[in-house]
Amino acid sequence: MGEENKAKKAHVLIVPYPAQGHINPIVQFAKRLVSKDVKATLVTTVFLSKSTFSDLTSSVDLQTISDGFDEGGYDQAGSADVYLQTFWSVGPKSLATLIKKLVDAGHPIHGLVYDGFLPWALDVAKQFGIRSAVFFTQSCAVNSVYYHVSRGLLQLPLQGSNVISLPGLPPLEFSELPSFVFRHGSYPAWLDVVVNQFSNVDEADWVFFNIFYELEKEAVDWMSKFWKVMTVGPTVPSLYLDGRLENDKDYGMNLFKPSTSACMSWLNGKPKSSVVYVSFGSFASLGVEQMAELAWALKGCNCYFLWVVKESEEAKLPGNFIEETAEKGLVVTWCPQLEVLSHESTGCFLTHCGFNSVLEALSLGVPMLAMPQWTDQGTNAKHVEDVWGIGIRARPDEKLGLVTREIIEQCIKELTEGEKSKEIKKNAIKWKNLAKKAVDEGGSSDKNINEFVAKLVCD
Ligand code: UDP
Repeated sequence: MGEENKAKKAHVLIVPYPAQGHINPIVQFAKRLVSKDVKATLVTTVFLSKSTFSDLTSSVDLQTISDGFDEGGYDQAGSADVYLQTFWSVGPKSLATLIKKLVDAGHPIHGLVYDGFLPWALDVAKQFGIRSAVFFTQSCAVNSVYYHVSRGLLQLPLQGSNVISLPGLPPLEFSELPSFVFRHGSYPAWLDVVVNQFSNVDEADWVFFNIFYELEKEAVDWMSKFWKVMTVGPTVPSLYLDGRLENDKDYGMNLFKPSTSACMSWLNGKPKSSVVYVSFGSFASLGVEQMAELAWALKGCNCYFLWVVKESEEAKLPGNFIEETAEKGLVVTWCPQLEVLSHESTGCFLTHCGFNSVLEALSLGVPMLAMPQWTDQGTNAKHVEDVWGIGIRARPDEKLGLVTREIIEQCIKELTEGEKSKEIKKNAIKWKNLAKKAVDEGGSSDKNINEFVAKLVCD
C-alpha cells in the first residue's frame, strides 16, 4: 500500500458476541484487516478481557464494553433471558461511551464490524455516522432460514409436509432446520436473538459471511439480491490456509486453557490417520446417557481417540472409563483444536458441527462424523453429508432419542474404512483446496476484503 493511503489508515471497530465460537472468526477477520494495513480494535466485554487466555500479540488493539456482568459474564447472569436482556440494555450505552472516548482521543472510526447477534451495535454506529458491516458467524443457509422466519415467510410452529424448500438451499427436512426453529419453544430467548439479526439488517452497509463463495454459491446469490453481501471466510488462522499472515497459527483468544503439550505429545506417538478426534465445542452439553453411549462406542471401536470433555461435563463420564481406556484414549478439558485437526495422526473428527469446527475440518481436509446437538448444528451436519460430501451423520435412534453406541461404532467404521470413505476423502481434499484459494491473493474472499478496505480508505 502506498504512502498516500498509509496517511489515511482506516480504523475499524470489531464487536463480537462474547462466546468462543463467535470470537474466533471475528478475531481472525480482524487480523486479516490488520494485514491489509487497517487499524483494528477488538471490543470484548470487561469480563472476557479479564478471563481469557489471550495471545493476540500486538496486531489487534483491545477495548472493552460492559455486558452488565463484569465479574462473571454469562454464568453470573444465571439464565439466557437475564443475560441477553441486561446486555441489550447496558451494551449499547457502553459501546456509545467507548466510541466517544476513542474519537475524543483522536482515533476516528471509519467502520464498525459487528456480530449479527448484536443488531443494536448498528444502531449505535448510525448515531455516530459510522458505516457498518454485519458479520454472520453462521452459514448462509442457516441465516436464510432465520431471515424467512423474521419476515414471516416461514411460520412457526412449522406445519404441513415434513420438507421445506427455500431459495438457494437444498430441500430441508424439519429436523434439518436449526433447532430453535424446528423445536419451536425450546429456547425462545435464543430464537429471538437469531431472528432479530435481521431487524435492521437493511441499514447495514455490508453483510459479511464467514464462508467462501464456492461453498454456498446459490444461497449467497439469492441473499445478494437484498444486501451488499460479501463472503470473507473461512476465517481460519492463515498458517493452515494461505500462510500469508506471519506466525498465525491460532485464533489467540481462548476462554478455556488448552492442554497443548499433553495432546501433541500423545498424538505424536500414534500411527498416521489412526485417531478419532471428538469434541462438542464450547457450549453444547450431552445428557448422561448420551455421554455413556459415546464413551462405550469409543471403547468398543478399539480405535485411538482424543476426546475433549469440558470440566462442566466431566462428572457425566462413566466411572472408570478413563482408567479402562487409558491405553487407547486421551481425555482433556480443552485442546488446541487446529493443531489437533492438522496433525497427521488425526484420521477423522467426531463433531457437534458448530460452524467453526466444520469450517476448520473442511479447511484442513479432515472427514467428519456429525453428531449435531442443537442450534445450527443439524443444518451444518446436513451440508457436511449431503451437500459437501465430507462426512456422514450419526443419527439418533428414533425411539430412544439417543445416538446409540452401535450406531456410533458403525459410523466410525464407515467413515474410516467403508465404501464411502474414499469419496469423502477426495471431496475433503477438493474443499480444502478451494478454501485456501478463496483467501489466497486474488481469491473470492480476498477480493471482497480488499474491496471493503479500499472503500474505508477512499471515502
Ligand atoms: N475449540 C478449541 N479447543 C477445543 C474445542 C474447540 O480450540 O477443545 C475451538 C474450535 O477450534 C472452534 C471453537 O472452539 O474454533 C468452537 O466453535 P464452534 O462453532 O465449532 O462451536 P461452539 O463452541 O460455538 O458450539
